[in-house]
Amino acid sequence: MGICTSKRKVDENVQIVPYKVCITAFIWNKESHNLFDFESNQVTKKEIELDFSGTLSMVDNQIIALTDNEYVNKQIQLLRVDCEQEYMMLSGMSQKSDQRVWAILCNRPDFESLNEWELQKGDMIKLGRMKLQLLEINHDIDTLQQQKEQIENDDELQSKDLELEASQCRICFSKNGSLSNPLFSPCKCIGSMKYVHLNCLQIWIQQSIKIKNQQSSIQYIWKKMECEVCKMPLQSTYTYQGQIFCIMQIQKPIVPYMIWKITSDDKSKEGIIQVMELIDKQDIKIGRVPDCDIKLKDISVSRNHALIKVIKSEYNQYKLLLQDNNSKFGTLLHASSGKLLKYELQSPQKVLYQIGRVLLHVQLKEKGKSYNKQFTCYRHPNQILVFPKKSINEQATIVPNLEKDKDNQLSFQTHNELNQDDIVINVKQI
Ligand SMILES: [Zn+2]
Ligand SMILES: [Zn+2]
Repeated sequence: MGICTSKRKVDENVQIVPYKVCITAFIWNKESHNLFDFESNQVTKKEIELDFSGTLSMVDNQIIALTDNEYVNKQIQLLRVDCEQEYMMLSGMSQKSDQRVWAILCNRPDFESLNEWELQKGDMIKLGRMKLQLLEINHDIDTLQQQKEQIENDDELQSKDLELEASQCRICFSKNGSLSNPLFSPCKCIGSMKYVHLNCLQIWIQQSIKIKNQQSSIQYIWKKMECEVCKMPLQSTYTYQGQIFCIMQIQKPIVPYMIWKITSDDKSKEGIIQVMELIDKQDIKIGRVPDCDIKLKDISVSRNHALIKVIKSEYNQYKLLLQDNNSKFGTLLHASSGKLLKYELQSPQKVLYQIGRVLLHVQLKEKGKSYNKQFTCYRHPNQILVFPKKSINEQATIVPNLEKDKDNQLSFQTHNELNQDDIVINVKQI
C-alpha cells in the first residue's frame, strides 16, 4: 500500500448563511446533578463559531459543533442549531429533564441574560432540583364563561375515533368520552382495562391525595400514584387535544388565581399541585424559608430563590413577572412558546441557556465583506484524529489551524483515499 496524500473538505453539502453563530460555553467541571454553580470559579470557558446547521455536542468536556454528516465517538448531544437565511433556531435534543434547554433568568454582571419573564400558561421553571409548571392562570370572568360554553358544547365534539377503537371506561363501562371528560389510557394496561374516564380516575385517585389549606392557597399533595393493576406510576397531569388535565379534582377559587404543579428531580419526593388566589397579591416569594408563598423543601433551592411580581393592568388582566433573586443555581425557564429559541438577524436577543452543567451564550454576527464564504472548521478543537471506519488502525492527524490555513478548509492526510461516509472523527487532545 503506497502512501498517498488526500486533501479534502469533510463536508461539501453545507448551506452557508450570511451570519456567524457565535457561542460562548461555560462548563462547570464538576458532576453536578445538572446544576450550574454561578458562584464557582471552576468553570471552563470556550468559544465556538458556526455558520451551518448542525449539532453542538460535548466530548470529553469539550464542546464541538458538527454538521449532520459528521459523527464523533462518545458524544453527548446538547443542542440543535438550524441556520436559515433570515433566522436561526435552537432546539433541545430531548425532552428529558437533563437534556432540556433552559433559559436562565439572572442579573449577574458576568453572565448577561434575561432579567425577567412574563409567565404564560404551560411555562416550566426550575429552581435547583425542583420543577414548577404553570398549569393555569385565570384572571378574567370571560375565560370562565368560555370554558363553560366549551363544556356545554362538548358533548357534540365527542371523538369518533375513540368510538371506532371500541374503547370503554374500565370503571364505569361507558364508551362515551368528551373534551372535558376524555377517555384516555394513563398506563400500560391493555384490553378492557386500557381506557378510563378522566372523571372516573379523579374520583378513584382522590383517596391517595392529601389536601393542605394555607392562607390564600390550597396544596394537593401526593407521594405515589400508580395504576393498581400494572403498577405504572401515573402522571399528575395529562395533555389531551392541547388541554392540560389534572388527575385530581381541583377546587378552583374565585378569579384571579393560578395553579402550579411542583415536582422534584428526586422521584422519591412528593408532588404538589398548588392553587393560589392572586387577589391583593403583589409579590409571590418562592424559596426554602417558611415565609415564602411557594415553599420548596430542597437544599438545592436558595432561601429566597425567586419572585413573581403580580401586576394588575387595565381590564382586570394580571401579568406575572418572574425574576431571580440572586440564587446560587439560578432560575431556569422553559417557555411554552418557542420565542426564546429563535434568533432574527436584525433583532438579536440576549439569552443565556443551560443544558445540564453547561451554559451557552449565543449571538448572531453578520459576516463582514472580507469574510471568506468557504466552509471553515473553527468548530473543532485544536487537533483531531481521523480514521476510516473500515480500518481503525489507520489514523490520520488533522491540524486544522484554520485562521492560518491558506485554503480555509479542514484538510487532513491519510494513507488511503477516503469517502465521506468512511470518516469518523474522533476528537482527542493530542
Ligand atoms: Zn368512566
Ligand atoms: Zn395499568
